[in-house]
Amino acid sequence: MDPADALAQQLDSHRRHVLDAAAGKEASSWTEVAAAYGVQSPSPTPEALEAVGKSIVEGATAALKGIEKDADPRRVAFLKGRLEKFAADLPVAHKQSSGSKLGLGGIFANATAHAGWTGGHGKIKRVIKCRNCGAPQQEARVFVCSFCGGPVFATDETTSE
Ligand SMILES: [Zn+2]
Repeated sequence: MDPADALAQQLDSHRRHVLDAAAGKEASSWTEVAAAYGVQSPSPTPEALEAVGKSIVEGATAALKGIEKDADPRRVAFLKGRLEKFAADLPVAHKQSSGSKLGLGGIFANATAHAGWTGGHGKIKRVIKCRNCGAPQQEARVFVCSFCGGPVFATDETTSE
């Protein structure tokens, strides 16, 4: 796989992790997840989501510098375009997934918010760990494993509990 594609997949895994935590679909609370990205926040406000997004972009940009010379330049350019919009997009994506601006009826929007996409059974448990050696990472914004240099992903541990 092209290293820029691998990095794009990492970016996707972090995006899902943050949006699911913001929506209350994860076993970890929003506050815990935000703190792992270096952001102190009691609730997923647009400002907090953007701050977490900026932290992820920082990590991804640092990782990109390390792989840029080995990656397809077109994929690198595409990834850079995504990184420019990434932080500002998180609050927008969260607002859309919570259904508040979709013109849904109150009852339907409420039911959707409570059931979630797991159908109301359990929450997703995710840990940030290296896909190469499996070492868990303390800092979520680190994209490169501090032990082996492998790619670090937000990984599903279990899908229900
Ligand atoms: Zn590792």
